[in-house]
Amino acid sequence: MIAQSVLDLIGNTPLIRLQEASAMTGCNILGKAEFLNPGQSVKDRAALSIIRHAEDQGTLSPGGVVVEGTAGNTGIGLAMVCSALGYRCKIVMPRTQSQEKKDSVKLLGAELIEVDAVPYSNPGNYIHTSQRLAEELAKTEPNGALWANQFDNIANRQAHIDTTGPEIFKQTDGNVDGFICAVGTGGTLGGISLSLKSLKPSVRIGVADPLGSKMYSYFRNGELESHGDSVTEGIGQGRITANLEGIEVDHAYQIEDTEALQIIFELNQLEGICLGGSSGINIAGAIHMAREMGPGHTIVTILCDYGQRYQSKIYNPDFLRERNLPVPNWLC
Ligand code: PMP
Repeated sequence: MIAQSVLDLIGNTPLIRLQEASAMTGCNILGKAEFLNPGQSVKDRAALSIIRHAEDQGTLSPGGVVVEGTAGNTGIGLAMVCSALGYRCKIVMPRTQSQEKKDSVKLLGAELIEVDAVPYSNPGNYIHTSQRLAEELAKTEPNGALWANQFDNIANRQAHIDTTGPEIFKQTDGNVDGFICAVGTGGTLGGISLSLKSLKPSVRIGVADPLGSKMYSYFRNGELESHGDSVTEGIGQGRITANLEGIEVDHAYQIEDTEALQIIFELNQLEGICLGGSSGINIAGAIHMAREMGPGHTIVTILCDYGQRYQSKIYNPDFLRERNLPVPNWLC
């Protein structure tokens, strides 16, 4: 089959059996290889869905400009989709995110606006900045402006209801017992959990949460509380976004960076799979969930993006040493 556009290459990613994680738990731990999407992350799916939904609703017209606040991967996905469909794209990112992601946004033709990394409660936060920018542009741009609003736009999770969830069900011949991942917008967790629970109600859903995020406490005891911090990017959430509304979570785990990094460093060295930090949180969560559910189960998680996107950070010995994080010998 010949793809007619790069957009046809989004989704239909393979599942990979994670050998070490499976052997240590006696379960089948499978990773959905989202780093193989053309924009190299899980967020290509949400980007395409948000743009198609806006076109259908008439909120995005030919020649229009798309604006979004993002940790980077949604920006990369939107930049790619916008180029392919003839829209302009402006991306607002916190300065703290990896240089590699910022470069990719620009490489794909979007305009990058960097802002200080301040909490959601601060009006200068990247999400609010992107909303204001879209509102201003809507007044001046002849063809209008769309704020993608990935956190509260449920076209985000719809991508996973329509594609990722059914793909997982089909690829495992329905033999999936559990699904777990971390939350950024909640689109991946929200969409896949709604899809899998409707296809197979016995499927158990887990959330893997980095320090500094409030999802663990929320899904354990209903309180939005957090402590500590994480070097992972693209995940961590302090509120129930529209994409998380109405979902059922059966397991919740809090994962420290050291555990997540050790897992991705080993995967790199022993299985040749190079991943970003959020994938380490996800796989650690899958291992905890496998131990809680017991041997013999099939648990799926998300391999969100490729590790090279973080070469200057979690694959940089100086970055790791400064933060007292483990430094693998092969990296030095
Ligand atoms: N991992 C990475 C690297 C990401 O960029 C994102 C998106 N912010 C996620 C995980 C989480 O995905 P979601 O927004 O669907 O919760």
